[in-house]
Amino acid sequence: MRIVVLAGGIGGARFLRGLKAAAPEAEITVVGNTGDDIHLFGLKVCPDLDTVMYTLGGGIHEEQGWGRADETFTVKEELAAYGVGPEWFGLGDRDFATHIVRTQMIGAGYPLSAVTEALCARWQPGVRLLPMSDDRVETHVLIEADGERKAVHFQEYWVRLRASVPAQAVLPVGAEAAKPAPGVLEAIAAADVIVFPPSNPVVSIGTILAVPGIREAIAEAGVPVVGLSPIVGDAPVRGMADKVLAAVGVESTAAAVAAHYGSGLLDGWLVDTVDAGVVGEVEAAGIRCRAIPLMMSDLDATTRMAREALDLAEEVRA
Ligand code: GDP
Ligand code: CA
Repeated sequence: MRIVVLAGGIGGARFLRGLKAAAPEAEITVVGNTGDDIHLFGLKVCPDLDTVMYTLGGGIHEEQGWGRADETFTVKEELAAYGVGPEWFGLGDRDFATHIVRTQMIGAGYPLSAVTEALCARWQPGVRLLPMSDDRVETHVLIEADGERKAVHFQEYWVRLRASVPAQAVLPVGAEAAKPAPGVLEAIAAADVIVFPPSNPVVSIGTILAVPGIREAIAEAGVPVVGLSPIVGDAPVRGMADKVLAAVGVESTAAAVAAHYGSGLLDGWLVDTVDAGVVGEVEAAGIRCRAIPLMMSDLDATTRMAREALDLAEEVRA
């Protein structure tokens, strides 16, 4: 079985662990969000690709959910001693090595997709990890600060400001001119099932779908597309997804997120048991819906979620 998953960082990566366990024979292609990418200290940092790579490759800081396990911050401290920031973005020493290798390869002319493949040769994530595009796409968030409207990089909004000011718009800058990375459209066309894990619907999956051709390819693939809600009990399980959902005029409910993707894209949707009350509403919108426990508390729970997603896919295929 060939499965394509569109993934952001933590939510996508944790779900993928369960999917690998639920379908050990499957060939899994992950289309990763690169709208969160940022250049820091002259280095190209790809937070979501790295979270997937480290999580599946065994290098992740488990409790934190991002960054390397067993990390130290000497380089960051030394940079700060020179007054060189930003200090709000935590890059550890081990993590720095990844960004140095990536930046060096890009400087030598390799596209991001080839660089990602090279990095994965070390981590062996057990999936094929593709960036959504080799072209630069950068998510910016429009905010009002000191009576002035301005666009800030997504990381500045998310990490420095902790989404504490209202987002007026989310702009995937460069997306309209970006091309899907080599292999992305081919993987979608060859897929038996397409899965939207419980990743951020706006700044993770939404950004991937903003690359021209990807949304269309999924809609036209003619195979089941199933998703899992990142919103449980009308709030994100972790993080501040409600803030960017508000910016695109979507309520923070499992039903509203399903409607946001729409029945033109989504065939099946899993909501948490606490949201069982919305199943009828989602089904009335033309999307098959089931309520099951959706907390990725451990590998067993996550594996059950992945199995339910695959079962739901078979149900809508029939
Ligand atoms: P990011 O790039 O690191 O923000 O990660 P993603 O976009 O992949 O996923 C973020 C989303 O994952 C958040 O909106 C969370 O609500 C969701 N999430 C995290 N843990 C869980 C969980 O255990 N269950 C569910 N249903 N969603 C989760
Ligand atoms: Ca992200």
